[in-house]
Amino acid sequence: ERNLVRMAAYTPMIQQYLQVKAEYQDAFLFFRLGDFYEMFFEDAIKASQELEITLTSRDGGGDEKIPMCGVPYHSASTYIEQLIDKGYKVAICEQMEDPKLAKGVVKREVIQLITPGTLMEGKSLAEKENHYIASVASPADGNFAIAYIDLSTGEGRACLLEGPFEEVLNELASIGAKEAVVDPEFPDEYARLMKNTGNITISFETDTAVKEGFERLLPQLEPELLRLAAARLLNYLFRTQKRSLDHLQPVEMYEVRRFLNIDYYSKRNLELTETIRGQGKKGSLLWLLDETMTAMGGRLLKQWIGRPLLKQEKIEARLQMVETFLNHYFEREDIRERLKEVYDLERLAGRVAFGNVNARDLIQLKCSLQQIPGIRAVMESLESPESKKLAALLDPCEELTDLLERAIEDNPPVSVKEGGMIRDGYNEELDRYRDASKNGKQWIASLERDERERTGIKSLKVGYNRVFGYYIEVTKANLHLLEEGRYERKQTLANAERFITPELKEKEALILQAEERMIDLEYELFTEIRAHVKEFIPRLQRLAKAVSTIDVLQSFAVVSEKRHYTKPVFREDGVLKITEGRHPVVEKVLDSQSYVPNDCLMDENREILLITGPNMSGKSTYMRQIALTVILAQIGCFVPAREAELPVFDRIFTRIGAADDLISGQSTFMVEMLEAKNAIANATERSLILFDEIGRGTSTYDGMALAQAMIEYIHDEIGAKTLFSTHYHELTALSAELGKLQNVHVSAMEQNGKVVFLHKIKEGPADKSYGIHVAKLAGLPEQVIRRAEKILHALENQDNGETQMNPPEAAAATEPAQLSFFEEPETPRQKTVEAKERKVLKQIRELDLLEMTPLAAMN
Ligand code: ADP
Repeated sequence: ERNLVRMAAYTPMIQQYLQVKAEYQDAFLFFRLGDFYEMFFEDAIKASQELEITLTSRDGGGDEKIPMCGVPYHSASTYIEQLIDKGYKVAICEQMEDPKLAKGVVKREVIQLITPGTLMEGKSLAEKENHYIASVASPADGNFAIAYIDLSTGEGRACLLEGPFEEVLNELASIGAKEAVVDPEFPDEYARLMKNTGNITISFETDTAVKEGFERLLPQLEPELLRLAAARLLNYLFRTQKRSLDHLQPVEMYEVRRFLNIDYYSKRNLELTETIRGQGKKGSLLWLLDETMTAMGGRLLKQWIGRPLLKQEKIEARLQMVETFLNHYFEREDIRERLKEVYDLERLAGRVAFGNVNARDLIQLKCSLQQIPGIRAVMESLESPESKKLAALLDPCEELTDLLERAIEDNPPVSVKEGGMIRDGYNEELDRYRDASKNGKQWIASLERDERERTGIKSLKVGYNRVFGYYIEVTKANLHLLEEGRYERKQTLANAERFITPELKEKEALILQAEERMIDLEYELFTEIRAHVKEFIPRLQRLAKAVSTIDVLQSFAVVSEKRHYTKPVFREDGVLKITEGRHPVVEKVLDSQSYVPNDCLMDENREILLITGPNMSGKSTYMRQIALTVILAQIGCFVPAREAELPVFDRIFTRIGAADDLISGQSTFMVEMLEAKNAIANATERSLILFDEIGRGTSTYDGMALAQAMIEYIHDEIGAKTLFSTHYHELTALSAELGKLQNVHVSAMEQNGKVVFLHKIKEGPADKSYGIHVAKLAGLPEQVIRRAEKILHALENQDNGETQMNPPEAAAATEPAQLSFFEEPETPRQKTVEAKERKVLKQIRELDLLEMTPLAAMN
């Protein structure tokens, strides 16, 4: 009631504002007032802070002034983008009638809700990236369904995930979803996780009805949950965008299991599409591989990297095309040249559907289409089944090209409302107007000559201005030469008079009318052409797919050639054999000369490689290089090695490097354990596991125990190919018990008092005391070094004994009176003797007496 009273006090316009705002509570309402978009109340206060614009206020009829701020409509897009970038939504409320003609308050309506997931253009829409909005369906029997659409390209996908919810987060993070649409009943904790860990804007939509027209977009989406998720998303898009979305493509259902599964953390750890530090693309696998020539190709490349294949035939098909491109340099270069001219057909199709293309866009479309027959011919000429198959998919859309060639001028203006877009000869009526205008202008041009002759005034001029139109100008000195009654005086200047004649005015009317009609007619013709282009959207989208596939494959060929990659061979028997393999990105950064290639052999006797070696020696690089080689192979690219034989892996798990605490509130160690759990719970014998220094996040013995238990479990229960790096030297002893575990190490050398890392992987465990060498080289005080050597020695002896002790105990046990750091021990020799005795005792205990001759036993 109080609200009603307050409402009544406001001016009608503010009342209108409040009514609209009530429907868009979670968005900034950009309320059009003349040349400005204004914001009021809370919106104004918040927007003035976020956009750093001045906050003012105005009377609105209430007791207090209303806070207000605004932005000019012509520069609104930059402000809108800033707000969207920060995860907000913006509702655009326009005047729906001419204010001059309006009775009472001007009618206003929200014409579009712009949200982080529904951008169609602007800087925030990176060329070579998809921009997804997703919807997540609440769990039903533990399953989740997600659907997502890139509004700018029209692509849509949907998949089922079994949960836990991390799977959903993984998938959303992998596709880089900006916004998620859910039911208002959707569990809060999940929504919060999406918002906090994924930086995803949450939106609500209750309507899940499958509307008319959706059938085309939701073919065979099973089960129900998937349809529901996709329909919810579509309803949200239609409700917020309020315009034609004819470019949306059928939502494709996919199964996560059909692809090499790499969870989000692993994707980040392996720096597939961006580096962990710096967040940028530079330094990532995507950066290395991106030699694409089109924006569409760039986006497809990123999708492929995120979803390596499992089907060997499909991989082989890609590899075959890469090989063909590699073997045909000139054809490839030719195709690259042509691809350079191909515009972003997918996004163009989206803008056509939205109704915001101009003649320049159509020219770019024409130029793109003109390239297709050439590309097709080259693809057809290549002797490979794959290339012929791709050639067949290149639909040049001749009718459309022909129409655009006939209709659109080569250099049209940006605006579609000023004419100058349509070619001569395209439309008779337009040509007639143009003739009329041209003839009229010619007639006027000749008028000057005729009038000069008639009057004998050499300085007589014919001119034009906006107010009076065409006129004849005569200087005051010559006025007497004019024929009486023939000229009508129009304007007097300081020393000249301007006249018109009925004939002149007649021609002028013709010219102006023709020009006006021309502009209207051109706009009409343009919208007709645009509508025609719209009918081609599905064909253009299919063409875009074929073009982008060719683009990515040529990009693979370029990289493979430049960096001397080799075609991987797939083996059914699970053996992995890489000869002189390299880390593709490190190699590029180091400039191939200095990169040390390494082999890797994993088979049934070498399922787990335990990698030891000092810090910075290259353990983690080696592990990553194997994973990246596997990924490159399964996306259909050649691999950085002299030779590579690989199994097809089903999943890759990693626990590498700096654990960044993404799931907020979790300790680093917890994240580490979660990732380890994820691997252990889900890996199969066809998986690849990379564990780098696992257990480092807790106390030594704790960590070592965990590491050992995990290795044993993987060894006995899973049989996944595993690379396990560790600085727990003790673990190397496991090779004696675990038949499928092998020790390898990265060697390092001391040279002229400097550590030299050879980065070379060698068989067997690493030298134990390397850490102390490094400490010495680093210049730690001599006493510290001596003391460390002593403790190490004690520990080594201790290890050979029956029981294990904690390090301080070990030191104490051997040196009961020598806890001081700075004094020499009293009887070093005595201790050495003791140690030797213990070693001998241990050896004796381990002897198998039943298997020995009496002589051997006595010895
Ligand atoms: P670790 O995991 O053993 O601490 P890293 O794998 O992080 O060591 O390697 C440390 C650095 O050594 C890397 O940044 C890289 O520049 C260099 N490096 C690693 N492997 C090689 C190699 N095979 N050839 C040349 N340089 C390498």
